[in-house]
This record gives sequence, C-alpha cells and structure tokens, in this order.
Amino acid sequence: MTQTQVLTPASLEELVAALAQATPQTRLLAGGTDLVRELRRPVREPDLLVDLTGLAALSEVRLEEGMLHIGALATFTELQWHPLVREHALCLSLAAAQVGSTQIRNAGTIGGNAANASACADGVTALTALGAVVITVDGAGERRTQSLDDVVLGPGRTSLRYDEAILEFAFPPLDAGHRSAFAKIGSRTAVSVARLSVALVVRFDADAGVLSEARVALGAVGERAFRASELEAKLVGRAADDETARLFADGCVAAVEASIPGRYSLPYKRHAAVGLAYDAWNMLALSAPSEPAWT
Ligand SMILES: Cc1cc2nc3c(=O)[nH]c(=O)nc-3n(C[C@H](O)[C@H](O)[C@H](O)COP(=O)(O)OP(=O)(O)OC[C@H]3O[C@@H](n4cnc5c(N)ncnc54)[C@H](O)[C@@H]3O)c2cc1C
Repeated sequence: MTQTQVLTPASLEELVAALAQATPQTRLLAGGTDLVRELRRPVREPDLLVDLTGLAALSEVRLEEGMLHIGALATFTELQWHPLVREHALCLSLAAAQVGSTQIRNAGTIGGNAANASACADGVTALTALGAVVITVDGAGERRTQSLDDVVLGPGRTSLRYDEAILEFAFPPLDAGHRSAFAKIGSRTAVSVARLSVALVVRFDADAGVLSEARVALGAVGERAFRASELEAKLVGRAADDETARLFADGCVAAVEASIPGRYSLPYKRHAAVGLAYDAWNMLALSAPSEPAWT
C-alpha cells in the first residue's frame, strides 16, 4: 500500500516547491468533488497529494489590464454571485448556478472543472464561449498561458503535466454592449450533469440594430466543449428577432448533428438542442431589458 504524503502550500512559492516534488502519481486537490470519488476507486493511491485549498490568492476574481481573471480555486458559488462575473461574464455566473447541488457549488472549483475535463463540464462550456486562456505554473516556477482548447483535450484528458497547476483563467470582460446566456439540459431537473449545454455571447449594435459579434459554445456533445463557428458567422449582421432565434436554434441542431453523427443519443440531442437554443436566446433578452431594439 502506498503511503500518501500530503503537502498544503500556503503561498505561490510553496506551491512551486510542492510541484517540484511531483511524480506521475501525484494528484492536486481543490474542492475534491471529482477527486475524492476517483480516489475511492481501487486504483493506485497517489504518492503525493498537493492540497491547494490554502492558496487564498487562487480564489480571486479581478479585473486587470483589460482582462477578467478568475482564480482556479474560485468555487461555483463564488462565481455565481461575484459582481464582476455577473457584470462581465454573465454566462459563467449562470453556468455556475446550474452546477450540481448547493454543496457541490460550495466546494467545486472552476480549476477542478477544467482539469477534470469532463465533456459535460458546465464551467468549461462557459469559458469556451468567453474565449478564456489558462494560466499555469509548474515545479520549475515556469508559467504558461494556453488557450482552453489546448488544455482540455477530451474526456478526462488535458495537456497539463503532472507537475503543473492551473493558477487562473483570463478573458476579455464583456461590456455593456454584450449579452450572454447559458442553458443546459440534464436527465433530471436538479443535481444533474448536462446532456447538452450551450453558452452564448453576443454583442448588439443598437445603432445598426444588428448583432455585431456572436460566440456559441456547445457542451456535452462530443469530446469536449467547442465553438460552433459556422453558426456564429451566420448570426453576425442579423437583427435580434424571431427569425434569428429560429436560425440560432437550427444552427445548434446542425452543430449537434455534425458533432455526434450516428451516436445513439443524436435523436434525443437533436430535439433537445431546439428547446435549449430558445432557452438561451430568451435569456439574452432578459439580460438587458432596457434595450428596446431586442424583440
Ligand atoms: C453530485 C455531483 C454533481 C455534479 N454536478 C456537476 C454539474 O452539474 N456540472 C459540472 O460541470 N460538474 C458537476 N460535477 C463535477 C464537479 O463538481 C466539477 O467538475 C468540479 O468543478 C470539480 O472541481 P473540484 O474543485 O471539486 O476538483 P477536485 O475534485 O479537487 O479535482 C478534480 C481534478 O482536477 C485536478 N485539479 C483540481 N484543481 C486543479 C488545479 N488548480 N490545477 C490543476 N489540476 C487541478 C485534480 O487533481 C483532479 O484531477 C458534479 C459532481 C458531483 C459529485
């Protein structure tokens, strides 16, 4: 039986020193909502557990140099209610609000959500629409900044090295011209992982009366969350009306069909995509109710 050593770094320097001792059997612990379940399975025990929870700085959410930074240890409850997230990344707040139960949201972190790399990770879908990069540090103290797509590779697979920890995520904050939404469908109404999710960010040009930017991320369909770029291009330049809502729903269906051709869940997800798309679209109208041009 392996004797597991536990390190509890309380500063970035101590984190780097802990990571310097890491081996392929080492695991990092954040909220433990995924890891504890995994460690209960009869697999090889870790030689070293690096408990990140003493690193208060990694829970920070801040605006700096034109970017919104989200600490890897920010919990879903913090992301749901944080004023900067609600103002500048509403789809992430909405995604956080729909994760698991109150207990899971209180413990689960956004860094763990990405590092666990489940295809139905709600936080990852929202971060994909927000165009987030991932900032990491390794046991040599070297920092890397990579796109989320380069880090989350597929179910349970990331490009993170065993001696590398996510410090934070960063992306350009949404401003008053943006609207964003997140919707998901699961096999039950509460404490359910997504069977399909969508995060949507648009910019509405009130003078021209059209969408000048659109970002659509789909989750829980295929290997990992992805941007539906063909659909995004079709949305730009269109009015925010019922016809565009229908085009958005049709585009989500097309993206689902292209992502999982022949999969047993396709007939279900094809229909689910329509309702989900309208849920997300209708949320956009609510996110800036004073804007009269949005129909
Ligand atoms: C009942 C239940 C319901 C759930 N519902 C949902 C849901 O609706 N939506 C959803 O998206 N998820 C859901 N989850 C999954 C889980 O809560 C999330 O994936 C959570 O974000 C994991 O974060 P954590 O802090 O608990 O990570 P941990 O369990 O501590 O770690 C998970 C993995 O990430 C690694 N890790 C953690 N932090 C870092 C870091 N900073 N750098 C590098 N690696 C790191 C760990 O080593 C481990 O491999 C649910 C889980 C449960 C048990």
